[in-house]
Amino acid sequence: MRTVDFRSDAKTLPVPEMYEAIAGAVVGDDSDQEDPTICQLEALAAAKCGKEAGLLVVGGAMGNLVSVMAQCERGKEIILGGLNHHYVWECGSPAVIGGLSLRPVPNGRFGELPLDAVRAAIRPDDIHQPVTGLIEIENTHNHCGGTVLPLSYLAELRQLADEYGLPVHLDGARIFNAATYLGVEASEIARYADSVQICLTKGLCAPFGSVIVGKADFIERARRIRKLLGGGMRQAGIMAACGIVALEKMVGRLQEDHDNARRLAEGLAQIEGIKIDLDTVQTNIVMMRLDGDQRRADEFARRLSEDGVLVLAFHDGKIRFVTRYGITADDVSYGLAKVQKLMAA
Ligand SMILES: *Cc1c(COP(=O)(O)O)cnc(C)c1O
Repeated sequence: MRTVDFRSDAKTLPVPEMYEAIAGAVVGDDSDQEDPTICQLEALAAAKCGKEAGLLVVGGAMGNLVSVMAQCERGKEIILGGLNHHYVWECGSPAVIGGLSLRPVPNGRFGELPLDAVRAAIRPDDIHQPVTGLIEIENTHNHCGGTVLPLSYLAELRQLADEYGLPVHLDGARIFNAATYLGVEASEIARYADSVQICLTKGLCAPFGSVIVGKADFIERARRIRKLLGGGMRQAGIMAACGIVALEKMVGRLQEDHDNARRLAEGLAQIEGIKIDLDTVQTNIVMMRLDGDQRRADEFARRLSEDGVLVLAFHDGKIRFVTRYGITADDVSYGLAKVQKLMAA
């Protein structure tokens, strides 16, 4: 049976150039920064984001944790979105491991943290309260539908953060999708944050890794924390080689995924009983809803999978489709036909 897997862009497989890059990778002991391929990947990611330095970590979850720990001493509090990946999907890592408390604010429609909500969440100077240490945003915003934060919003948030002397961490798992949508370099987005976490494994198809980028002294602290967490590397240039291909070769094709997502969303919106906020379909993620309860969403995903079309039903009734390398325009048509058939039944 034909299978079209819309569950996640984390399902991408390495491209042939990555296997070639693995075979040719020059490696060394990264503990002493002697792996030239890792050093090259870290420098490349930093350059793309206009930052001084980078650090390869196992994945996005480690990247976010290392970043916030490198910016906040224990006991501080992080303001972040209640639907942010780091709050919902990363096991409460800042609290569990970093000794940091989390102060969620409700995300706006596009994943933004409303500025007045952020301002209200910043703690006053009061010995009874935790000290606010960081503001964390996500761009594109996964749960809001791969939505992009406008540059004007980022500038305003930066200004607010500066007013209180707070650093900003950006979970930029899909920063290149955001940059593609805005038609700007990733550095135009990253400049508003002190640290950025970039996933190499989502739409960029690498089998492993995230890079965090920021100022050189931040990366120095982060390197020690990565070691503390057991994330120190040795001859991992084998894997970093794929990351270089990801950043050099895979960014330029993301528009294709966005075009496919758009067509998918417009097709789904035509189907009776499906609810979609088309304005939020900006990149490679499509979120839809059905009337009815959670069981209906779960049932929809289950029955669609019996027809070879895989989607993700979240706990809040949202059903996610993600387009990515390996999903063609024809796969989108196939998926739409199967949804149509299911909804007509
Ligand atoms: C996938 C993802 C992460 C976590 O990345 P992993 O490599 O799976 O740990 C973090 N933030 C966002 C927005 C993501 O989509």
